[in-house]
Amino acid sequence: MTTGSRDVVIVGGGIVACLSGYLLGRRGYKVTILEADSLGSHASGFAFGGLDPLTGIGLPEPLLDFSLWCFVRHRSLARELHEATGIDVGFELRDRLNLAFNNEETKVLKDQIDWMKDVGGFTVEWVNNAEARRLEPQVSGEITGALYQRSPGALEPYRFILAAMRAAERYGVEMLQRRAIGLISDGDRVTGVTLESGTIDAGIVVLAMGPWTGLASEWCGVDIPVTPLKGQILRLRTLHDPLKMAVNYAHSYVATKSDGLIWAGTTEEETGFDDSLNSAARDSIMADFLKMIPGMTDAELLQQTACLRPLSADGLPIVDKVTGWENLYVSTGAGRKGILWSTGMAHALFEMIDEGAVDVIGAEHLKLDRFPEKV
Ligand SMILES: Cc1cc2nc3c(=O)[nH]c(=O)nc-3n(C[C@H](O)[C@H](O)[C@H](O)COP(=O)(O)OP(=O)(O)OC[C@H]3O[C@@H](n4cnc5c(N)ncnc54)[C@H](O)[C@@H]3O)c2cc1C
Repeated sequence: MTTGSRDVVIVGGGIVACLSGYLLGRRGYKVTILEADSLGSHASGFAFGGLDPLTGIGLPEPLLDFSLWCFVRHRSLARELHEATGIDVGFELRDRLNLAFNNEETKVLKDQIDWMKDVGGFTVEWVNNAEARRLEPQVSGEITGALYQRSPGALEPYRFILAAMRAAERYGVEMLQRRAIGLISDGDRVTGVTLESGTIDAGIVVLAMGPWTGLASEWCGVDIPVTPLKGQILRLRTLHDPLKMAVNYAHSYVATKSDGLIWAGTTEEETGFDDSLNSAARDSIMADFLKMIPGMTDAELLQQTACLRPLSADGLPIVDKVTGWENLYVSTGAGRKGILWSTGMAHALFEMIDEGAVDVIGAEHLKLDRFPEKV
């Protein structure tokens, strides 16, 4: 089967693809998104949904400006998607405590305050044990203090991807439930995508297959250094009061989400494409959760989820035209921050395709050729 020709075919139907499809469709491009499974069935639908432009890999350098751009765009996009689809993505500003339990952890957090304080729009300060427990009475009495961030954000990832795809559909973007298995080309031009059964013609192809994008290296002969990094989350029910703010400790976090449940995460597991659940992850998340919020021993586990993050070789996203190709693009590799960075990645890709130049601040750090070519 050969479907009709499309201006742009995006391989992969995660949040990066859906938002990119929305922007391209709105500009009038005929866009098809190919999704092997179903909408939101991988990391984009099961992420925690924290939108914090101040902490994590790439921050403050080189991605502070890019992260702030992404954060600001989330505010306006949430309104835009709500108006277009009626879906509330749950965007909110949510304060956050990053806990320290000893002098070493205290120093690591305090060292960051100086540069964070200079970032406009965010109040960041150190609070001692008593102040932290006044802000969130359920945090552990064992802490030495906490870095208190006012106003990072959060949203509900599944509603976000649903809204992005619905909004895209209003502009004629279609999602086909098909797995791509290769590219069709003529010289340095891609002319289509090979599906498990059939082909689809395309003027432009975008590879946005999340952690599977690395597999497309073989399709295009260019190394796209992206691998899966598994992360698991627990959803728990407790009779205790909801948490007033998000609470973090090292790589773990906990918050009361809009479904009224406590969500606690996470893990970083290098297990290839295995996305199965395991009890070791459950136990380590529970241990960190109860270290942060020791009173919630009644918490009942309702759901455990596991998904694969797309991790690039340096942990930062890749949005670029693929080296040596006229009309093949890649957008992936956002690791632990793909919900936050999805706005900037989608706009950068859109501008690259539509205008040939990118205005999104900081997007110059997302180039594919920053990685040495593999021999
Ligand atoms: C536990 C966990 C918690 C997280 N929490 C946060 C958070 O709080 N904040 C944040 O900013 N980020 C968070 N993230 C990261 C974020 O979820 C990811 O970075 C982001 O969702 C990646 O989006 P994507 O569109 O690149 O990839 P994906 O969501 O993986 O989508 C890629 C899609 O491509 C499809 N696909 C693959 N191969 C093919 C093919 N050959 N043909 C057709 N389709 C194909 C897949 O089926 C998949 O649906 C979290 C991730 C995890 C796992």
